[in-house]
Amino acid sequence: MNVAVAPEFTARVRRNEPLSRHTSWHVGGPAEVFFNPRDRAELAAFLRALPATVPIHWIGLGSNLLVRDGGIAGVVISTHGTLDALARLSDTSVRGEAGLACARIARACIKWGLGPAEFFAGIPGTLGGALAMNAGAFGGETWQHVLAVETIDRAGRTHQRDRGEYRIGYREVIPPTSDEWFLAAELSFERRPGAHESEVRVLLARRKAAQPIGEWSCGSVFTNPPGDHAARLIESAGLKGFRIGDASVSHKHANFIINHGQASAADIERLIAHVQGTVERVHGIRLRPEVRILGVAG
Ligand SMILES: Cc1cc2nc3c(=O)[nH]c(=O)nc-3n(C[C@H](O)[C@H](O)[C@H](O)COP(=O)(O)OP(=O)(O)OC[C@H]3O[C@@H](n4cnc5c(N)ncnc54)[C@H](O)[C@@H]3O)c2cc1C
Repeated sequence: MNVAVAPEFTARVRRNEPLSRHTSWHVGGPAEVFFNPRDRAELAAFLRALPATVPIHWIGLGSNLLVRDGGIAGVVISTHGTLDALARLSDTSVRGEAGLACARIARACIKWGLGPAEFFAGIPGTLGGALAMNAGAFGGETWQHVLAVETIDRAGRTHQRDRGEYRIGYREVIPPTSDEWFLAAELSFERRPGAHESEVRVLLARRKAAQPIGEWSCGSVFTNPPGDHAARLIESAGLKGFRIGDASVSHKHANFIINHGQASAADIERLIAHVQGTVERVHGIRLRPEVRILGVAG
């Protein structure tokens, strides 16, 4: 499609921005229009000026996204590096904006004597992405801590919503309405005086020992089926190291797929389908992708 943006935004958007620059797998074709708002007012004005038929996608740090090689038609809004304020609201609650890196929540809560928030240090995404995914690690989950959220709709109007308006599951969040995105969240924690940064370091060291941290991946590709682990099923189906193009199933953690440098999104998507098919044939279990797959084939 040919997205028309209002004249005041012509110089503020990037056209045909390669999304491989914005995803942790380092793959993905271009966004027709890419917009990184400076602040809430600019975001609201941009949304208000956008024709109602233009598709809108949001990304945070792209750490859970497979964007296909043909890219994304319409507008991609990125909150990374902006909309990232974090403030203490009360004795036990904080307010973070959607573009905030999760690791900052972990560090700030430790400084403020609040917890348990250390698990946020293990999620290499933004708070907006964590809210959309109900991201979790080390036994903690984002929505265990959500009191309320602030959202914005495609007309640029903001809404305050209570936690109870969302249906929350494992890596699943069903909003009360579509076409609304997270701007901020109020999170509650317990008083944990004496919490120390070393607790985060211990968790991250544990993770580094078990996962291929530092390589190009999207974390876990599949959710764990009830009572089992996707990694165990993939490994026991003999798939560790299985390769398509420059993408392979990690030797270190079988639920990770690594881009060794030159993989295309199509390589990764084919590998995902191969893993799904093989696990289903061997174990009779259909794995559900945790990663979000977007865009058109190249
Ligand atoms: C090495 C590695 C380890 C990981 N470990 C974990 C882990 O332990 N636990 C875990 O849960 N995940 C893990 N992940 C996956 C990923 O970090 C999380 O899913 C994270 O929450 C995604 O955040 P993001 O900002 O990168 O979102 P993106 O990947 O950019 O987007 C993910 C989804 O969120 C939506 N979204 C983003 N921002 C908003 C917004 N403001 N409003 C509405 N929707 C929005 C997007 O549209 C998309 O559907 C890991 C990833 C990597 C690379």
